[in-house]
Amino acid sequence: MADYYDVLGVSRDATADEIKKRFRQLARETHPDANPGDPNAEVRFREIAQAYEVLSDPQRRAAYDRGEVFGGGDLFSNVAGLDEILQQFFGSGFGGFGFGTRARSGPQRGPDVGVVLELTLAEAATGVSRDIRFSALGRCPVCGGNGAAPGTTPVRCSTCGGRGQVQTSRNTFLGAVMTVTDCSVCRGRGEIIEEPCSECRGHGRVDAERELTVEIPAGVDDGTRLRLSGRGGVGDRSGPPGDLYVQVHVAADDRFERIGDDLRHHLVLGMAEAALGTKRTVPLVDGEETEIDVPRGTQSGTVFRMARQGMPRLRRRGRGDLLVEVEVRTPEDLSDDEEALLRSLAELRGEQPIEPRRRRKRRSG
Ligand SMILES: [Zn+2]
Ligand SMILES: [Zn+2]
Repeated sequence: MADYYDVLGVSRDATADEIKKRFRQLARETHPDANPGDPNAEVRFREIAQAYEVLSDPQRRAAYDRGEVFGGGDLFSNVAGLDEILQQFFGSGFGGFGFGTRARSGPQRGPDVGVVLELTLAEAATGVSRDIRFSALGRCPVCGGNGAAPGTTPVRCSTCGGRGQVQTSRNTFLGAVMTVTDCSVCRGRGEIIEEPCSECRGHGRVDAERELTVEIPAGVDDGTRLRLSGRGGVGDRSGPPGDLYVQVHVAADDRFERIGDDLRHHLVLGMAEAALGTKRTVPLVDGEETEIDVPRGTQSGTVFRMARQGMPRLRRRGRGDLLVEVEVRTPEDLSDDEEALLRSLAELRGEQPIEPRRRRKRRSG
């Protein structure tokens, strides 16, 4: 890729003003409208515009000077930004190349639609197929989408000949520049509806209830947003449909705490179990159970990691782990027998518990 300073023909320490002046000069020389019939002109012009876009922005220029790569280096990656520059320089109404500004006047893409889906953690772990209902713009069933009352048809706009757009020629410092604008008579539609459909008031689209079966992949998390391309509202005229966004909400589960793809389960053990070892069943997220061997002398806070028993990784292979975190619970409500046993134990181990107080009579365990 050519060096931006070389493209503009300025030195590396050129001031912002020098860069601006130079771009203005080059833009006039290389603009395709000033070079009719030269297919390379547009490519050269874009190169210059892109170099200017970077070097005219102090932060991006500094990054470029440091050798940082940005924007993927695709000359055609930022067409909207290019149009913006042209507008700044040459004012709005500048011809451009028929992208960016003009795209807005053509057929409009349908609106995006959002739906919230509630899942349990188990459903998030296995993936689930859900029927959802939502409201989205659809073709008007009465007029079939053309906006004209039944029995009538839209007529072709005579002003623009049905194209929806009109070309005008303007004289600028570049010479004659063709500008394409929406036809003001049909407002870009290319046709005129003399008698609008009463159902959609001539828009051709109405809100309608829809049903759809959505496949939720295993491993989704609370807040995961799934995009179903083209499942949103229908577009205006021949515009493409919008997208449907399914926002996943995963309900809290009192057995598991999710940490990324890992799950944490809290396991409470008695003092004797922790000291002597035990076997415990531990729930698994998909509804199964597994047995865990707690070895002798397990301390409170010990974490047993059960590999690949966590959540599946969304759209990847493998699973997270299940972390079983032990809490050894100290008995609080000792019966007289239990207290006697503990005191014997303390004596054997040389521990020094506080002397017994006179206690109210307790039930014995
Ligand atoms: Zn209609
Ligand atoms: Zn028209």
